[in-house]
Amino acid sequence: MDKVRRSLLIGGASSLVAPILPAPISPLNAAPLRYNLKAQRIAYNSYVVIGKTEDYSPDNGGDIVNVAFIDTSDGVVLIDTGSSRRYGEALKQLIYATTGKDVIRVYNTHFHPDHCLGNQLFDKKKIAALPKTISGLKASGEDFSSNLYRILGDWMRGTEVIIPEHVINYSSEKFGKHRFEMLPFKGHTDADLAILDHETGVLYAGDICFLDRAATTPHADLESWHKSLKEIKKIPHKIIFPGHGPADTTSRSIEQTDTYLTWLEKNLTKSARSGKDMLEAAKMPIPEKFQSIDVIELEIERSVAHLYPGIEEKTLPFLGQGDS
Ligand SMILES: [Zn+2]
Repeated sequence: MDKVRRSLLIGGASSLVAPILPAPISPLNAAPLRYNLKAQRIAYNSYVVIGKTEDYSPDNGGDIVNVAFIDTSDGVVLIDTGSSRRYGEALKQLIYATTGKDVIRVYNTHFHPDHCLGNQLFDKKKIAALPKTISGLKASGEDFSSNLYRILGDWMRGTEVIIPEHVINYSSEKFGKHRFEMLPFKGHTDADLAILDHETGVLYAGDICFLDRAATTPHADLESWHKSLKEIKKIPHKIIFPGHGPADTTSRSIEQTDTYLTWLEKNLTKSARSGKDMLEAAKMPIPEKFQSIDVIELEIERSVAHLYPGIEEKTLPFLGQGDS
């Protein structure tokens, strides 16, 4: 083998002159990638798989989201499918190892990629979602997926966007003894499905609720989000299972998401009124009660980018024609 080829293959001197780029992923240099998913029983026949309360990274492979499955006598009902084909595979194996049954219904709580890029492993005719989740995924799924390929590399290999084919236009459905009530909310996105299992009292809240992990806001409408949180609070339940963070028996996830978003908006409004730019606005001091929330600094920076232009527009005085 000539020296140049060898040097390219092993990295060699080329790394001294080339900019440092992520290593190309190939079967030769890829570490074995395996999600270590674990099912925890939170109620009768009900299991959750709790994602890391982190941002996407090649270390966690996108295992940052909560999913849940319910073992009914008709088959397994699955809520969300994770962020990649590989995650979907690990999840499917875990479900079978836990229940010995196949999945008969999948719900996608909303169109964000961490919740539905594992769809590929399941029958799309059985994947159910709200109409706007389906249209959102059709419009943005490919962009979400390419973005995750850039961040997660080989974890995403073979992942394709699968659009749910079962439209939720009904208020409940029953599998075995479990009656699942469909609760369409909005605010985190324009279609956020929460599901109440009347058999167990577990309320699967999707990303309307976060716990001990900062809420994400790329498609947020804060006014609708607060309204949804108010409504969800009134629904009798025993446990809330948020989209991110641990299962919640005290409704702390509702409270924390609500107070965090209120604080965020209040501070951004104050910054806009005092004429701060985005970079200055992002430097808000974090109150003690929020300091233990994971990924909060990063999500504040992102939320400033998502929300500040709209808040500035609402806050700044209108200088129309004729003003002098
Ligand atoms: Zn999410």
